[in-house]
Amino acid sequence: MTATELGLPAVRRGATTDPARPADPRLVDSFGRVATDLRVSLTDRCNLRCTYCMPAEGLDWMPRDEQLTDDELMRLIRIAVRDLGITELRFTGGEPLLRRGLEGLVAASAALEPRPDISLTTNGIGLARRAASLAEAGVNRLNVSMDTLRPERFATITRRDRLSDVLDGLAAAREAGLDPVKINSVLLRGVNDDEAADLLRFAVENRYELRFIEQMPLDAQHGWERSEMITAGEIMQSLQREFTLTPDPTERGGAPAERWVVDGGPSVVGVIASVTRPFCGACDRTRLTADGQIRSCLFARTETDLRAMLRDGADDGAIADAWRQAMWAKLAGHGIDDPGFLQPDRPMSAIGG
Ligand code: SAM
Ligand code: SF4
Repeated sequence: MTATELGLPAVRRGATTDPARPADPRLVDSFGRVATDLRVSLTDRCNLRCTYCMPAEGLDWMPRDEQLTDDELMRLIRIAVRDLGITELRFTGGEPLLRRGLEGLVAASAALEPRPDISLTTNGIGLARRAASLAEAGVNRLNVSMDTLRPERFATITRRDRLSDVLDGLAAAREAGLDPVKINSVLLRGVNDDEAADLLRFAVENRYELRFIEQMPLDAQHGWERSEMITAGEIMQSLQREFTLTPDPTERGGAPAERWVVDGGPSVVGVIASVTRPFCGACDRTRLTADGQIRSCLFARTETDLRAMLRDGADDGAIADAWRQAMWAKLAGHGIDDPGFLQPDRPMSAIGG
């Protein structure tokens, strides 16, 4: 029986080099894409329990000794920036603010040459106290997840009554000079799908940049249903009832969001239509989980175990080669629409969203 049949991700250890791969030091794949954006999950733990992400009781968190230490993590980030052409780093989770020493990891990353652009995706709990120190450590940009402006709905969606903490965190991030401060919102049918325009009005008035994300089949409970998902088309329809939206002329590049200028500007709103308008062809991401696995895609069903290599004494060159090989094997797309689509075993919170 293979590892996958046991319900575990198939893990590649230090994969051998495919002779078809060009001698390019960067993270190229066989479809001509180049990964320059590294998403680092700092922990799988979280202090919220968003219904579309994990069950009320939480998950079996990763044992501490399986998590990369700060030194191990920084060694991999250094290899990524120095040897593999990574120019953007995003720390995420789980909830990255729960990782002890986050400011130190940010500062160490900011000291790398060439300095990467550093961003953070957070639920905003505790951000009010830390926004200034994170900005000082070197965070350039921040995304805060907030799906509703109504406290009782927030408590329903996240199973915690903490909306005011998130609003305080957003304000503190703006005060700390982080620019742009983005808000990520997921709309759920019958729960908050009537709030698209209210969220945009709030964002415009407070100078935040709002992005809606289509709900994806990445919840730990495997409860996602396409028919229940609020589509980008539906989101646009509700926004256009109250705002004039024109396509943002700035280059999209590998960015997942389609952006629209709101009422002539300067505000813009983004829609990340991962399911209905996939952007896999322009993907520039590589992912590192908190336990040191490389994933070429959110939806990948295989992982490459760099933690084992680190702990077995591999040198930087061998680790870089394994990472290159992992990305060379990246598939063309996420395959959500394929008849045989299988949701990855790891939920979003353990991959890093
Ligand atoms: N805890 C942090 C937060 O919520 O921002 C960082 C991790 S969270 C997994 C990153 C982003 O993924 C959040 O914006 C969240 O709303 C989004 N997300 C989680 N589960 C999702 C799903 N099934 N489909 C779409 N987005 C999801
Ligand atoms: Fe936590 Fe983020 Fe998942 Fe919500 S979406 S449960 S905040 S990891």
